Amino acid sequence: MKTALKIQIIGKSLEQLLKNWKILTFSVFFAGKVTPKNKKIAVIGAGFFGLAALEEEGGFNPVCFEKTDKPGGTWFYREKPEDGVGSTMPSTIINHSKELGALSTFPPKKESNNFMRHHEIYEYIMDYATSKGVLKYIRYKKEVLKVK
Ligand SMILES: Cc1cc2nc3c(=O)[nH]c(=O)nc-3n(C[C@H](O)[C@H](O)[C@H](O)COP(=O)(O)OP(=O)(O)OC[C@H]3O[C@@H](n4cnc5c(N)ncnc54)[C@H](O)[C@@H]3O)c2cc1C
Repeated sequence: MKTALKIQIIGKSLEQLLKNWKILTFSVFFAGKVTPKNKKIAVIGAGFFGLAALEEEGGFNPVCFEKTDKPGGTWFYREKPEDGVGSTMPSTIINHSKELGALSTFPPKKESNNFMRHHEIYEYIMDYATSKGVLKYIRYKKEVLKVK
């Protein structure tokens, strides 16, 4: 549905007001042209926080570009180091309690160590991503070279 609007508020034209992002958001929703579902959002990297961002932006139409062939970022343990790709070490253990580092919407398992091993964190991240259905948004082996 397209609606032609001509709004005049405190002497300012709609065009001037549209420069303000909040008003733009309100206006486009009001006009019924752009909804969260058809608004595209790019997330760079499918590490822990890229995956969390995909959930946060869940009402939108996100796509996540990941330069490797796996999600999890740093927490995906790689036996053989790859140039420019972060990885934990076999001995890595988190330096805070599992509750402190967990997402508030997804508590860690009772049975995992209080100071989780790297493979427990990876499992936690993947359980989270799977349960929130965000893995389908990831495009693997796509490195972002430039953002304009
Ligand atoms: C050895 C080690 C131990 C750590 N210990 C802790 C800890 O105990 N507690 C804690 O809270 N944090 C710790 N961290 C910090 C860790 O970085 C964060 O916990 C978390 O992994 C950061 O998530 P992220 O998604 O921001 O980044 P990352 O996990 O680094 O993920 C980034 C992702 O983006 C991808 N990417 C990068 N550039 C591009 C590009 N141009 N185009 C496309 N994809 C791209 C990468 O391949 C990767 O998958 C540790 C880090 C390391 C290295």
